[in-house]
Amino acid sequence: MHSILGAINKIIGGNKLSILIYHQVLEEFDPMRPYEVTADVFNWHMKLINQHFSPISLSEAAKHIQNNTLPKRAICVTFDDGYLNNLTVAQPILTKYKIPATVYVATAFTEGADMWNDRVLDLFKDVALESLLIEDEMVALGDWANRNKLAEAQLMRLKYMPIEARLAGVQKLYDDNNLSDPEPRMMNASQVKQLAQCGVEIGGHTVNHPILKVLSREQQFEEINQCKKQLEDWTGKPVKHFAYPNGSYGKDLTDETVALVKQAGYETAVVTDWGTSSHGDDLLRLKRFTPWDTSPFKFHARLVKSRI
Ligand SMILES: [Zn+2]
Repeated sequence: MHSILGAINKIIGGNKLSILIYHQVLEEFDPMRPYEVTADVFNWHMKLINQHFSPISLSEAAKHIQNNTLPKRAICVTFDDGYLNNLTVAQPILTKYKIPATVYVATAFTEGADMWNDRVLDLFKDVALESLLIEDEMVALGDWANRNKLAEAQLMRLKYMPIEARLAGVQKLYDDNNLSDPEPRMMNASQVKQLAQCGVEIGGHTVNHPILKVLSREQQFEEINQCKKQLEDWTGKPVKHFAYPNGSYGKDLTDETVALVKQAGYETAVVTDWGTSSHGDDLLRLKRFTPWDTSPFKFHARLVKSRI
């Protein structure tokens, strides 16, 4: 079956770039994060890409888009947020299949504090806990399906609060239940440097991971520019690539945001809007998509279909 898709791909695959979005690559399946890939799944994703596509770095891709020289079946692999398992689990697999990658880091989360959504999910993950005090009510946790449902309700409740209130709300859940955070999930500064030394390109993803659109022009620039300076300082390398938090054009960022990313000196920026890129496209609004398929055939079919 792969050979048929491979043949179709050879015919239709020219002059287009696919960019894949990953977040975590888990050592083993996490029942609170069933949508994140495991090392096994990521391994066959990369094996398939190595066999059927032309993986290139984002820096190479940017030059090819400008010069109209994209190789056939060009593909980039990217990771958002800066999870430690990008270094410990994903990087050895990337090296094994010689696949370049870019990891976008939100710098505020490199000091031991996880992102608020991970902190909420981890509250419901402890199998030793049978109940939690949530908004002054003792709630039975039950099975994984119920834990996921309860966590989702808390994520929705907190998501649209102003950032300070949201973080305080998460902390209250921990305090009310006398719980402390698990080991940090995000890379610290020296781990970011280590990943850069392995040849992975480090990109900016703001400092605090805000929705840029709702910030003032000055606040947006500070978020966009400060993380670039910080990451360049840590890695000793230029930081040329940026990923907009949440990343839906119009909803999470505006043309003003794009102009500020350019002003800060980034060469490329990625959104989360679905699609591929080709010659003539705006390098500061490159489209991506998430490969969520559970079988190699579906994954391959989706990659091919996305390029038609
Ligand atoms: Zn993100």
